Amino acid sequence: MSRLGEARFLGSVASAAQFPADAGAEVAFAGRSNAGKSSAINAITKRRGLARTSKTPGRTRLLNYFELSPMKRLVDLPGYGYAGVTASERAAWLPLLETLRERSSLTGLFLIVDSRRGLTEGDEALIEWSRGVHRLHILLSKADKLNRGEAAVALRTASAQLGSRGTVQLFSALRGFGVDEAQATLTAWLSMAPREGIGQ
Ligand code: GDP
Repeated sequence: MSRLGEARFLGSVASAAQFPADAGAEVAFAGRSNAGKSSAINAITKRRGLARTSKTPGRTRLLNYFELSPMKRLVDLPGYGYAGVTASERAAWLPLLETLRERSSLTGLFLIVDSRRGLTEGDEALIEWSRGVHRLHILLSKADKLNRGEAAVALRTASAQLGSRGTVQLFSALRGFGVDEAQATLTAWLSMAPREGIGQ
């Protein structure tokens, strides 16, 4: 996985004109605020602190692009479900999500969901956003906080809710649990030709 070790920040996107060229492959990472998305990105890319860039003032409501290797990108979406988000902030980034969805280089969506909380309304909205267009993989994060039985229940419940819309796994950035599996999925998706797969 050394190829993912060379990740670097490409830039923040605040308007449709600022997206990188729609070539190669990219995978989006989304999740409710505090779900563990930054920790997951850092664990998967093996770059501690990479996603901290997305949390610097002025960037938290933007789409933040990272290049993992030439023509392979990760795009970090703003955390949602956070009471502090104003209507105007939402209004600003919803069109960006639409532009993102139309990009042929976008091959899939990683959704980070706190394993103790399960899928929320905001998560469901994003699952529907991705439906039929992109592959979807859910990381049930902070699985180290659950015992074996609880983890099995969390996995079963999320799988049942998700149905055929995507795949789901347990994950812990803290313990490194599930990182290999997540990396394998990410690497496979980044190796796909634009808009390969799903219904095409
Ligand atoms: P984000 O807002 O979704 O980017 O979430 P962060 O990655 O910043 O994590 C939010 C909080 O959850 C922080 O306090 C992290 O230390 C904690 N956290 C993230 N991943 C894990 C994990 O795998 N296990 C545990 N126990 N805590 C985690």
